[in-house]
Amino acid sequence: MFPDRVLSGMRPTGRLHLGHYHGALKNWAKLQHEHPCYFFVADWHALTTHYETPDVIEQYTYDTVIDWIAAGVDPSQATMFVQSKVPQHAELTLLLSFFTPISWLERVPTYKDQVEKQAQFGRDLATYGFLGYPLMQAADILIYRANLVPVGEDQVSHIELTREIARRFNHLFGREKGFEEKAEAAIKKLGSKKAKRYNELRTQYQQEGNAEALEIAHELLSDVQNLSMGDRERLFGFLEGGGKVILPEPQALLTETSRLVGIDGEKMSKSYGNTIDLRESEEGVTKKIRTMPTDPARIRRTDPGDPEKCSVWTLHQVYSDQTTRDWVMQGCKTAGIGCLECKQPVIDGIIKELKPMRERAAPFEEDPTLVKNIIADGCEKARDTAEETMRDVRDAMGLNYR
Ligand code: SF4
Repeated sequence: MFPDRVLSGMRPTGRLHLGHYHGALKNWAKLQHEHPCYFFVADWHALTTHYETPDVIEQYTYDTVIDWIAAGVDPSQATMFVQSKVPQHAELTLLLSFFTPISWLERVPTYKDQVEKQAQFGRDLATYGFLGYPLMQAADILIYRANLVPVGEDQVSHIELTREIARRFNHLFGREKGFEEKAEAAIKKLGSKKAKRYNELRTQYQQEGNAEALEIAHELLSDVQNLSMGDRERLFGFLEGGGKVILPEPQALLTETSRLVGIDGEKMSKSYGNTIDLRESEEGVTKKIRTMPTDPARIRRTDPGDPEKCSVWTLHQVYSDQTTRDWVMQGCKTAGIGCLECKQPVIDGIIKELKPMRERAAPFEEDPTLVKNIIADGCEKARDTAEETMRDVRDAMGLNYR
Protein backbone atom coordinates (compact mmCIF):
# COMPACT_ATOMS: atom_id res chain seq x y z
CA MET A 1 0.00 0.00 0.00
CA PHE A 2 1.13 3.53 -0.65
CA PRO A 3 2.15 5.83 2.22
CA ASP A 4 -0.30 8.44 3.52
CA ARG A 5 -0.13 11.68 1.57
CA VAL A 6 -2.29 14.81 1.67
CA LEU A 7 -3.02 16.87 -1.45
CA SER A 8 -4.79 20.17 -1.67
CA GLY A 9 -4.70 23.19 -3.93
CA MET A 10 -5.96 26.72 -4.40
CA ARG A 11 -6.44 28.84 -7.46
CA PRO A 12 -4.31 31.99 -7.58
CA THR A 13 -6.89 34.70 -6.92
CA GLY A 14 -4.66 37.34 -5.31
CA ARG A 15 -4.43 38.11 -1.62
CA LEU A 16 -6.02 35.50 0.64
CA HIS A 17 -8.37 36.46 3.44
CA LEU A 18 -9.72 35.23 6.76
CA GLY A 19 -12.27 33.06 4.96
CA HIS A 20 -9.39 31.09 3.39
CA TYR A 21 -7.66 30.88 6.75
CA HIS A 22 -10.61 29.49 8.69
CA GLY A 23 -11.90 27.43 5.75
CA ALA A 24 -8.65 25.73 4.74
CA LEU A 25 -5.27 27.11 5.77
CA LYS A 26 -5.64 26.57 9.51
CA ASN A 27 -6.33 22.93 8.71
CA TRP A 28 -3.36 22.72 6.31
CA ALA A 29 -1.04 24.07 9.02
CA LYS A 30 -2.27 21.27 11.31
CA LEU A 31 -2.13 18.50 8.69
CA GLN A 32 1.48 19.28 7.80
CA HIS A 33 2.49 17.93 11.22
CA GLU A 34 0.48 14.73 10.76
CA HIS A 35 1.21 13.58 7.18
CA PRO A 36 3.42 14.44 4.21
CA CYS A 37 1.53 17.29 2.52
CA TYR A 38 1.54 18.57 -1.07
CA PHE A 39 -0.08 21.99 -1.53
CA PHE A 40 -0.25 23.51 -4.99
CA VAL A 41 -1.26 26.71 -6.72
CA ALA A 42 -3.79 25.65 -9.36
CA ASP A 43 -2.84 28.12 -12.09
CA TRP A 44 -4.11 25.93 -14.93
CA HIS A 45 -7.42 25.64 -13.14
CA ALA A 46 -7.58 29.44 -12.96
CA LEU A 47 -7.37 29.52 -16.74
CA THR A 48 -10.36 27.19 -17.15
CA THR A 49 -12.60 30.04 -16.04
CA HIS A 50 -10.41 33.17 -16.38
CA TYR A 51 -8.55 32.44 -19.61
CA GLU A 52 -8.98 36.07 -20.70
CA THR A 53 -6.92 37.49 -17.81
CA PRO A 54 -3.60 35.61 -17.83
CA ASP A 55 -1.58 38.71 -16.90
CA VAL A 56 -2.40 38.44 -13.18
CA ILE A 57 -1.47 34.77 -12.72
CA GLU A 58 2.22 35.22 -11.91
CA GLN A 59 1.76 37.86 -9.21
CA TYR A 60 -1.27 36.09 -7.76
CA THR A 61 0.71 32.88 -7.54
CA TYR A 62 3.44 34.52 -5.46
CA ASP A 63 0.84 36.30 -3.31
CA THR A 64 -0.91 32.99 -2.67
CA VAL A 65 2.22 31.19 -1.52
CA ILE A 66 3.29 34.12 0.70
CA ASP A 67 -0.15 34.02 2.30
CA TRP A 68 0.12 30.26 2.90
CA ILE A 69 3.41 30.86 4.69
CA ALA A 70 1.88 33.77 6.59
CA ALA A 71 -0.92 31.46 7.73
CA GLY A 72 1.59 29.00 9.17
CA VAL A 73 2.19 26.54 6.32
CA ASP A 74 5.86 25.75 6.73
CA PRO A 75 8.01 25.14 3.64
CA SER A 76 10.26 22.83 5.67
CA GLN A 77 7.23 20.64 6.47
CA ALA A 78 5.00 20.81 3.40
CA THR A 79 5.78 20.74 -0.31
CA MET A 80 4.42 23.89 -1.98
CA PHE A 81 4.43 24.02 -5.75
CA VAL A 82 2.77 25.39 -8.87
CA GLN A 83 0.64 23.11 -11.04
CA SER A 84 1.87 24.32 -14.45
CA LYS A 85 5.50 23.73 -13.44
CA VAL A 86 4.75 20.02 -13.12
CA PRO A 87 3.73 19.13 -16.70
CA GLN A 88 2.98 15.55 -15.66
CA HIS A 89 -0.42 16.86 -14.46
CA ALA A 90 -1.29 17.63 -18.10
CA GLU A 91 0.01 14.29 -19.34
CA LEU A 92 -2.05 12.34 -16.82
CA THR A 93 -5.15 14.45 -17.55
CA LEU A 94 -4.80 13.57 -21.23
CA LEU A 95 -4.29 9.86 -20.59
CA LEU A 96 -7.26 9.69 -18.21
CA SER A 97 -9.42 11.49 -20.78
CA PHE A 98 -9.18 8.54 -23.16
CA PHE A 99 -11.36 6.34 -20.98
CA THR A 100 -13.40 8.80 -18.90
CA PRO A 101 -16.99 8.92 -20.20
CA ILE A 102 -18.21 12.43 -20.99
CA SER A 103 -21.38 11.70 -19.01
CA TRP A 104 -19.29 11.40 -15.79
CA LEU A 105 -18.08 14.96 -16.29
CA GLU A 106 -21.43 16.38 -17.34
CA ARG A 107 -23.10 15.05 -14.21
CA VAL A 108 -20.72 16.92 -11.86
CA PRO A 109 -23.27 18.97 -9.87
CA THR A 110 -21.64 22.35 -10.40
CA TYR A 111 -21.02 21.95 -14.14
CA LYS A 112 -24.29 23.00 -15.75
CA ASP A 113 -24.97 25.53 -12.99
CA GLN A 114 -21.69 27.30 -13.53
CA VAL A 115 -21.96 27.33 -17.33
CA GLU A 116 -25.37 28.99 -17.07
CA LYS A 117 -24.44 31.34 -14.23
CA GLN A 118 -21.24 32.56 -15.88
CA ALA A 119 -23.04 33.04 -19.21
CA GLN A 120 -25.14 35.73 -17.46
CA PHE A 121 -21.90 37.65 -16.82
CA GLY A 122 -20.86 37.22 -20.44
CA ARG A 123 -18.30 34.51 -19.71
CA ASP A 124 -18.39 31.54 -22.05
CA LEU A 125 -17.66 28.39 -20.08
CA ALA A 126 -19.10 25.99 -22.63
CA THR A 127 -15.52 24.95 -23.35
CA TYR A 128 -13.65 21.69 -23.53
CA GLY A 129 -11.33 22.89 -20.73
CA PHE A 130 -14.12 23.70 -18.31
CA LEU A 131 -15.88 20.39 -18.91
CA GLY A 132 -12.54 18.69 -18.22
CA TYR A 133 -11.95 20.66 -15.01
CA PRO A 134 -12.93 17.78 -12.65
CA LEU A 135 -10.82 15.40 -14.70
CA MET A 136 -7.78 17.61 -14.22
CA GLN A 137 -8.62 17.70 -10.49
CA ALA A 138 -8.63 13.89 -10.51
CA ALA A 139 -5.21 13.89 -12.20
CA ASP A 140 -3.92 16.42 -9.62
CA ILE A 141 -4.75 13.95 -6.86
CA LEU A 142 -3.91 10.66 -8.53
CA ILE A 143 -0.52 11.78 -9.79
CA TYR A 144 0.70 12.07 -6.19
CA ARG A 145 -1.14 8.91 -5.15
CA ALA A 146 -2.58 11.11 -2.43
CA ASN A 147 -4.97 9.13 -0.28
CA LEU A 148 -6.15 12.07 1.85
CA VAL A 149 -7.81 15.08 0.29
CA PRO A 150 -9.20 17.75 2.64
CA VAL A 151 -12.52 18.95 1.23
CA GLY A 152 -15.80 20.45 2.33
CA GLU A 153 -19.15 18.70 1.81
CA ASP A 154 -19.63 20.41 -1.56
CA GLN A 155 -16.47 18.85 -2.96
CA VAL A 156 -17.15 15.25 -1.99
CA SER A 157 -18.62 14.46 -5.43
CA HIS A 158 -15.30 15.44 -7.01
CA ILE A 159 -13.47 12.93 -4.84
CA GLU A 160 -16.05 10.29 -5.73
CA LEU A 161 -15.41 10.98 -9.42
CA THR A 162 -11.67 10.68 -8.82
CA ARG A 163 -12.23 7.32 -7.14
CA GLU A 164 -14.29 6.09 -10.09
CA ILE A 165 -11.62 7.18 -12.55
CA ALA A 166 -8.88 5.46 -10.49
CA ARG A 167 -10.99 2.29 -10.28
CA ARG A 168 -11.56 2.28 -14.02
CA PHE A 169 -7.85 2.85 -14.67
CA ASN A 170 -6.80 0.00 -12.39
CA HIS A 171 -9.42 -2.26 -13.89
CA LEU A 172 -8.33 -1.50 -17.45
CA PHE A 173 -4.59 -1.35 -16.96
CA GLY A 174 -3.78 -2.98 -13.61
CA ARG A 175 -3.32 -6.38 -15.19
CA GLU A 176 0.16 -5.73 -16.48
CA LYS A 177 1.76 -8.15 -18.93
CA GLY A 178 3.42 -11.01 -17.05
CA PHE A 179 1.74 -9.94 -13.78
CA GLU A 180 1.74 -13.43 -12.23
CA GLU A 181 5.40 -14.05 -13.10
CA LYS A 182 6.38 -10.64 -11.72
CA ALA A 183 4.40 -11.31 -8.53
CA GLU A 184 6.07 -14.73 -8.14
CA ALA A 185 9.48 -13.08 -8.58
CA ALA A 186 8.54 -10.46 -5.96
CA ILE A 187 7.53 -13.22 -3.49
CA LYS A 188 11.04 -14.67 -3.77
CA LYS A 189 12.47 -11.31 -2.75
CA LEU A 190 10.68 -11.65 0.60
CA GLY A 191 13.13 -14.35 1.70
CA SER A 192 12.13 -17.99 2.17
CA LYS A 193 10.46 -17.66 5.59
CA LYS A 194 8.30 -14.65 4.73
CA ALA A 195 7.57 -15.98 1.25
CA LYS A 196 6.23 -19.22 2.76
CA ARG A 197 4.10 -17.25 5.22
CA TYR A 198 2.82 -14.95 2.45
CA ASN A 199 1.75 -17.95 0.34
CA GLU A 200 0.01 -19.58 3.32
CA LEU A 201 -1.91 -16.40 4.11
CA ARG A 202 -2.81 -15.87 0.45
CA THR A 203 -4.19 -19.41 0.25
CA GLN A 204 -6.15 -18.95 3.49
CA TYR A 205 -7.69 -15.77 2.15
CA GLN A 206 -8.40 -16.90 -1.38
CA GLN A 207 -9.62 -20.42 -0.56
CA GLU A 208 -11.33 -19.87 2.79
CA GLY A 209 -12.14 -16.17 2.62
CA ASN A 210 -10.21 -15.64 5.86
CA ALA A 211 -10.19 -11.82 6.25
CA GLU A 212 -7.81 -11.99 9.20
CA ALA A 213 -5.25 -13.76 7.02
CA LEU A 214 -5.51 -10.86 4.56
CA GLU A 215 -4.94 -8.36 7.33
CA ILE A 216 -1.88 -10.26 8.63
CA ALA A 217 -0.50 -10.48 5.09
CA HIS A 218 -0.90 -6.70 4.69
CA GLU A 219 1.05 -6.19 7.90
CA LEU A 220 3.74 -8.58 6.74
CA LEU A 221 4.15 -6.66 3.48
CA SER A 222 4.13 -3.29 5.22
CA ASP A 223 7.06 -4.42 7.39
CA VAL A 224 9.24 -5.58 4.50
CA GLN A 225 11.91 -3.00 3.76
CA ASN A 226 13.67 -4.25 0.63
CA LEU A 227 10.72 -4.19 -1.81
CA SER A 228 10.28 -1.59 -4.52
CA MET A 229 6.97 0.30 -4.58
CA GLY A 230 5.97 -1.60 -7.74
CA ASP A 231 6.67 -5.05 -6.22
CA ARG A 232 4.87 -4.12 -3.03
CA GLU A 233 1.75 -3.13 -5.00
CA ARG A 234 1.95 -6.33 -7.07
CA LEU A 235 2.01 -8.40 -3.91
CA PHE A 236 -0.94 -6.51 -2.42
CA GLY A 237 -2.88 -7.08 -5.64
CA PHE A 238 -1.79 -10.73 -5.91
CA LEU A 239 -3.08 -11.43 -2.39
CA GLU A 240 -6.62 -10.54 -3.36
CA GLY A 241 -6.44 -12.16 -6.77
CA GLY A 242 -6.55 -8.77 -8.51
CA GLY A 243 -3.94 -6.87 -10.45
CA LYS A 244 -1.60 -4.16 -9.36
CA VAL A 245 -3.09 -0.99 -7.94
CA ILE A 246 -1.37 1.75 -9.92
CA LEU A 247 -3.58 4.67 -8.94
CA PRO A 248 -4.94 4.25 -5.40
CA GLU A 249 -8.41 5.62 -4.66
CA PRO A 250 -8.28 8.75 -2.47
CA GLN A 251 -10.45 9.41 0.57
CA ALA A 252 -12.16 12.72 1.28
CA LEU A 253 -10.83 14.17 4.50
CA LEU A 254 -14.00 16.00 5.46
CA THR A 255 -13.30 19.41 6.92
CA GLU A 256 -15.90 21.62 8.43
CA THR A 257 -16.43 24.45 5.98
CA SER A 258 -16.20 27.72 7.79
CA ARG A 259 -18.83 30.22 6.72
CA LEU A 260 -16.97 33.21 8.00
CA VAL A 261 -18.97 36.30 7.23
CA GLY A 262 -17.48 39.28 5.47
CA ILE A 263 -17.82 42.89 6.49
CA ASP A 264 -21.24 43.11 4.80
CA GLY A 265 -22.64 40.08 6.60
CA GLU A 266 -22.47 37.84 3.49
CA LYS A 267 -20.07 34.91 3.18
CA MET A 268 -16.52 36.31 3.05
CA SER A 269 -15.46 36.20 -0.56
CA LYS A 270 -13.28 38.26 -2.87
CA SER A 271 -16.08 38.47 -5.42
CA TYR A 272 -18.30 40.27 -2.88
CA GLY A 273 -15.51 42.73 -1.97
CA ASN A 274 -16.15 42.08 1.74
CA THR A 275 -12.88 40.52 2.87
CA ILE A 276 -10.33 41.07 5.58
CA ASP A 277 -7.01 40.02 4.08
CA LEU A 278 -4.41 38.00 5.94
CA ARG A 279 -1.95 40.85 5.54
CA GLU A 280 -4.50 43.57 6.40
CA SER A 281 -3.11 46.42 8.53
CA GLU A 282 -4.43 47.08 12.07
CA GLU A 283 -6.02 50.30 10.84
CA GLY A 284 -7.68 48.43 7.99
CA VAL A 285 -9.16 45.81 10.33
CA THR A 286 -10.41 48.47 12.75
CA LYS A 287 -12.04 50.54 10.02
CA LYS A 288 -13.70 47.55 8.33
CA ILE A 289 -15.18 46.09 11.52
CA ARG A 290 -16.29 49.47 12.86
CA THR A 291 -18.32 50.07 9.70
CA MET A 292 -19.89 46.60 9.65
CA PRO A 293 -23.71 46.61 9.60
CA THR A 294 -25.41 45.45 12.80
CA ASP A 295 -28.95 44.47 13.83
CA PRO A 296 -31.10 47.06 11.97
CA ALA A 297 -33.33 47.31 15.06
CA ARG A 298 -30.56 49.21 16.86
CA ILE A 299 -31.10 52.57 15.27
CA ARG A 300 -30.30 54.51 18.47
CA ARG A 301 -27.88 53.52 21.22
CA THR A 302 -30.87 53.01 23.51
CA ASP A 303 -32.63 50.52 21.19
CA PRO A 304 -32.24 46.90 22.29
CA GLY A 305 -31.10 44.40 19.65
CA ASP A 306 -30.69 40.71 19.00
CA PRO A 307 -27.24 39.25 18.34
CA GLU A 308 -28.82 36.45 16.29
CA LYS A 309 -29.79 39.11 13.72
CA CYS A 310 -26.34 40.65 13.63
CA SER A 311 -23.34 39.48 11.61
CA VAL A 312 -20.91 40.83 14.22
CA TRP A 313 -22.24 38.09 16.47
CA THR A 314 -21.00 35.38 14.09
CA LEU A 315 -17.53 36.88 14.40
CA HIS A 316 -17.83 36.81 18.19
CA GLN A 317 -18.42 33.10 17.87
CA VAL A 318 -15.02 32.75 16.22
CA TYR A 319 -13.03 35.33 18.16
CA SER A 320 -14.56 35.68 21.63
CA ASP A 321 -14.59 33.50 24.71
CA GLN A 322 -17.77 32.49 26.54
CA THR A 323 -17.56 35.39 29.04
CA THR A 324 -17.39 37.94 26.23
CA ARG A 325 -20.21 36.23 24.35
CA ASP A 326 -22.40 36.33 27.48
CA TRP A 327 -21.56 40.04 27.83
CA VAL A 328 -22.59 40.64 24.19
CA MET A 329 -25.83 38.69 24.50
CA GLN A 330 -26.86 40.47 27.68
CA GLY A 331 -25.61 43.93 26.67
CA CYS A 332 -27.18 43.86 23.19
CA LYS A 333 -30.60 42.67 24.34
CA THR A 334 -30.79 45.28 27.09
CA ALA A 335 -29.11 48.09 25.17
CA GLY A 336 -26.51 48.01 27.93
CA ILE A 337 -23.66 48.24 25.40
CA GLY A 338 -23.23 50.15 22.18
CA CYS A 339 -22.34 48.50 18.88
CA LEU A 340 -18.87 50.06 18.69
CA GLU A 341 -18.15 48.82 22.19
CA CYS A 342 -19.39 45.37 21.18
CA LYS A 343 -17.18 45.26 18.10
CA GLN A 344 -13.96 46.02 19.98
CA PRO A 345 -13.24 42.44 21.18
CA VAL A 346 -13.69 41.22 17.59
CA ILE A 347 -11.26 43.88 16.34
CA ASP A 348 -8.77 42.89 19.05
CA GLY A 349 -9.18 39.19 18.24
CA ILE A 350 -8.59 39.64 14.51
CA ILE A 351 -5.61 41.93 15.05
CA LYS A 352 -4.09 39.37 17.42
CA GLU A 353 -4.63 36.60 14.87
CA LEU A 354 -3.16 38.57 11.96
CA LYS A 355 -0.10 40.05 13.68
CA PRO A 356 2.09 36.91 13.44
CA MET A 357 0.89 36.43 9.86
CA ARG A 358 2.09 39.87 8.81
CA GLU A 359 5.39 39.21 10.56
CA ARG A 360 5.87 35.88 8.79
CA ALA A 361 5.04 37.44 5.41
CA ALA A 362 7.34 40.49 5.80
CA PRO A 363 10.69 38.90 4.73
CA PHE A 364 9.04 37.42 1.64
CA GLU A 365 7.48 40.74 0.68
CA GLU A 366 10.89 42.41 1.01
CA ASP A 367 12.73 39.76 -1.01
CA PRO A 368 10.57 37.99 -3.63
CA THR A 369 13.41 35.61 -4.52
CA LEU A 370 12.80 33.85 -1.20
CA VAL A 371 9.34 32.74 -2.25
CA LYS A 372 10.51 31.92 -5.78
CA ASN A 373 13.14 29.60 -4.30
CA ILE A 374 10.58 27.86 -2.09
CA ILE A 375 8.36 27.30 -5.12
CA ALA A 376 11.28 26.06 -7.23
CA ASP A 377 12.27 23.52 -4.56
CA GLY A 378 8.67 22.39 -4.13
CA CYS A 379 8.18 22.01 -7.89
CA GLU A 380 11.30 19.87 -8.14
CA LYS A 381 10.09 17.54 -5.41
CA ALA A 382 6.58 17.41 -6.88
CA ARG A 383 7.97 16.60 -10.34
CA ASP A 384 10.00 13.70 -8.92
CA THR A 385 6.94 12.24 -7.17
CA ALA A 386 4.71 12.80 -10.20
CA GLU A 387 7.24 11.24 -12.55
CA GLU A 388 7.38 8.11 -10.40
CA THR A 389 3.61 7.67 -10.89
CA MET A 390 3.80 8.51 -14.59
CA ARG A 391 6.44 5.83 -15.19
CA ASP A 392 3.97 3.22 -13.88
CA VAL A 393 1.06 4.80 -15.78
CA ARG A 394 2.97 4.88 -19.10
CA ASP A 395 4.16 1.35 -18.51
CA ALA A 396 0.63 0.12 -17.83
CA MET A 397 -0.75 1.94 -20.90
CA GLY A 398 1.89 0.52 -23.24
CA LEU A 399 3.74 3.80 -23.70
CA ASN A 400 7.05 2.91 -22.16
CA TYR A 401 8.96 2.30 -25.37
CA ARG A 402 11.63 4.21 -27.28
S1 SF4 B 1 -24.52 45.17 20.23
FE1 SF4 B 1 -23.21 43.78 19.11
S2 SF4 B 1 -24.50 42.04 18.62
FE2 SF4 B 1 -25.87 43.72 19.20
S3 SF4 B 1 -26.41 44.69 17.28
FE3 SF4 B 1 -24.65 45.79 18.10
S4 SF4 B 1 -22.87 44.81 17.18
FE4 SF4 B 1 -24.62 43.45 16.90
